[in-house]
Amino acid sequence: MTVARGVALLGATGSIGRQTLDVLRRSGEAFSLDSVAAGRGHLAELVAIAREFGVRRVGVAHEDDVEQVRRHLGDRVEIVVGEGGLAELAARSEIVVNAVVGFAGLPVTVAALAAGRRLALANKESFIAAAPLARRLAATPGAEVLPIDSEHCAIHQCLASSTTPGYPDVRRLILTASGGPFRGWSREELEGATKENALRHPTWSMGPKITVDSSTLMNKGLEVLEASALFGIEVDRVDVVIHPQSIVHSMVEYLDGSVIAQLSMPDMRLPIAYCLGYPVRLDHAWGALDFTSSHTLSFEPPDHAAFPAIGLAHRAVALGDAGPAWLSAANEVAVESFLHDEIRWADIVPVVTTTLERFEDGPLNSVEDVVAHDGAARREARRAIGGRS
Ligand code: NDP
Ligand code: MG
Repeated sequence: MTVARGVALLGATGSIGRQTLDVLRRSGEAFSLDSVAAGRGHLAELVAIAREFGVRRVGVAHEDDVEQVRRHLGDRVEIVVGEGGLAELAARSEIVVNAVVGFAGLPVTVAALAAGRRLALANKESFIAAAPLARRLAATPGAEVLPIDSEHCAIHQCLASSTTPGYPDVRRLILTASGGPFRGWSREELEGATKENALRHPTWSMGPKITVDSSTLMNKGLEVLEASALFGIEVDRVDVVIHPQSIVHSMVEYLDGSVIAQLSMPDMRLPIAYCLGYPVRLDHAWGALDFTSSHTLSFEPPDHAAFPAIGLAHRAVALGDAGPAWLSAANEVAVESFLHDEIRWADIVPVVTTTLERFEDGPLNSVEDVVAHDGAARREARRAIGGRS
């Protein structure tokens, strides 16, 4: 009899969280869901998940919610609270799925790696902000990072063709991007982009923050940083190509010109299952391609003039180690403001640009350093927003 591998799913009620539950439902006895956590948005759903999977530990974001959850789940379920609670859950399971959105996912990334766990990473923001620290923690015995983000999961698979540690045989990583709902729009047309337009992604159904990030191409800027941090490859060797069909999830070009790609229909359950099972492939084909019908795959360069976010990610790296933390924090503040109707879509990237102009360098060796940079960038981003309204 094989022993089920324990899984902590943190951010269980979101888009990635729910799709992870689908994969677990399909996986029979291979995994056991030990712990779940979420914010304050879907407490009843969190309780229902805990019941369905017989979860032993539940994390809530606020002390005020503990009693309500305890009333529903009884005393046999341990309830933990806030950032400390997330860190505790992340340290205790064999596999940790970080499906929290935004910088709030930092305690999960740090605690899972420090405890030598497998980190199945959807929460790119934490890894980008804490990159030097996260890379150091990833060297903890037993620790490993497997990327759920579809492009990085594709690259992880394509890099299996590399024969040398450090990837000197790789010329470049090529991230694909759908181009989002505004592909083909001119700078002038983008001035009138609305929330309704921005939230309608052509190929993926995701949470609101990453859907907005996809519309500005900031998601791709963040993914360039994520790829560099995950695989230890300089940002200048990470290119982006627009591929509207979202079937080629990313590619690796080797020195001899060979390009290795990973393909499937867009379905996040495939990368989630890959990260849970690795190095074993789970026996269910999420997003299988049907070659009895026709497919057209097209590729085009990004329009950097209309969508400056990818260039901004490169600029953030040039600023210093903490540049990516500033970029990601400023973007999070700008997207939140946009979702609350405080700024226009066309203001999001300019707010990040202004914030980066006020960048202040400083060490990035500890969690405290990362939190300090995040806080400073958020203050500057709010000031930039204030200056626009
Ligand atoms: P959602 O907004 O759909 O879900 C976010 C989850 O995080 C929810 O469960 C939410 O709980 C929880 N959460 C929010 N704040 C806290 C907190 N303080 N403590 C604990 N839990 C919290 O986001 P997505 O699932 O779309 O994205 C999650 C991450 O995955 C992001 O970093 C995103 O960039 C990345 N990603 C997502 C993809 C996708 O297809 N969705 C693809 C690639 C990457 P609650 O419901 O209570 O608010
Ligand atoms: Mg992605």
